[in-house]
Amino acid sequence: MGKYRYETHMHTSPVSRCAKASVRDNLEFYKNAGYDGVFITNHFLDGNIGISPDASYEEKINFYFSDYEEAVRLSGKAGIKVFCGVEISNRGTDFLIYGLGKDWYLAHPEIADMEKSDELALMMDSGALIIQAHPFREAGYIDHIRLYPRHVHGAEVINACRTDFENRMAKLYAQSYGLLEFAGTDNHVAGARPFLAGMCCDTPIKDERDFAERVKHGEMSIFACTNDQAAAAADNNTKGSRP
Ligand SMILES: [Zn+2]
Ligand SMILES: [Zn+2]
Repeated sequence: MGKYRYETHMHTSPVSRCAKASVRDNLEFYKNAGYDGVFITNHFLDGNIGISPDASYEEKINFYFSDYEEAVRLSGKAGIKVFCGVEISNRGTDFLIYGLGKDWYLAHPEIADMEKSDELALMMDSGALIIQAHPFREAGYIDHIRLYPRHVHGAEVINACRTDFENRMAKLYAQSYGLLEFAGTDNHVAGARPFLAGMCCDTPIKDERDFAERVKHGEMSIFACTNDQAAAAADNNTKGSRP
């Protein structure tokens, strides 16, 4: 496992309606697990977001980024870095977007009415890293599996919430299409999750764009571990850095 670990797929309450853990719970958990940083990837306006559908686009964007902004405020004291991500959705097919900030979303209200493939193309043109989340997830509310091999850079080949079979299929898919292999937890419950996954490297990432570029150039590795292994790695790191 690389020395610097990042959670790439994480939900916080109240912005993600389905999340059970607050920003604070998550920062505390990942700090204790020895992570250098977390990406907050809440469900976007097209997903399970905790705001009324009647709110204006701007109100929704302000609400959407409120958990991320709270996390940025807390990050210094919490001792862990916070990065911005977004999870957009199209009827059970989800995409993780990295490298676009609140200003970009405020400037692009047209995405609310776009075909998903057009929206993904616009985001890609704007420099985003795009990963299809858990591409082979099956669930009662998902009508069928849908893939967008020409509109993403990569796929989650390890999603710590999915079955080995679903992850194996995702890996076959990524390998067959030459897509980047990516990993994340999809954590909705902070420390209550027994398995974790994410991306790691040997030097700390600087910001979202740096992360996106490194992933695109294959300079980061995927990892998966149990909650206990993450805590043990945290201990080792601390011991290793003592003089
Ligand atoms: Zn969710
Ligand atoms: Zn998610």
